[in-house]
Amino acid sequence: MSPAGEIAGGCLCGTVRFTITLPTLFCGHCHCTMCRRNHGAAYVTWFAVPRAQLAVDAGRDHLTRYESSAHGSRSFCARCGSSLFCVSARHPDVVDIPLANMEAPIDRIPESHIYFDDRASWTIVGDALPRLGGATGLEPIE
Ligand SMILES: [Zn+2]
Ligand SMILES: [Zn+2]
Repeated sequence: MSPAGEIAGGCLCGTVRFTITLPTLFCGHCHCTMCRRNHGAAYVTWFAVPRAQLAVDAGRDHLTRYESSAHGSRSFCARCGSSLFCVSARHPDVVDIPLANMEAPIDRIPESHIYFDDRASWTIVGDALPRLGGATGLEPIE
């Protein structure tokens, strides 16, 4: 059993294992084209923690980094391909982690749709969460 406030996560094959420490900073669904292609999904549910609250416990040598834009990089497991950590030079002290890779609920549920105007034409969303977009992906659009 993990100490209070710690939640374990990992990749599909189990090679990369990590622990996050609560509290988190954010949780939301990202509809940007990069997330869609990187994960092969309609959208990706991310949460964020300060970097100091993420510990990689195993498989660090299998973590492979892909520079997905001029300011961001995405890390994945070289064995199974699971997408794991996304970091941006715009907020270097924060790391984004897919909620789906955690083994237990975190301290919040998704609170918005970001980059919603970049969503796939076949994505239909029926919830009442705020829909954000624009240049930053975080501006109210509806
Ligand atoms: Zn893996
Ligand atoms: Zn995205």
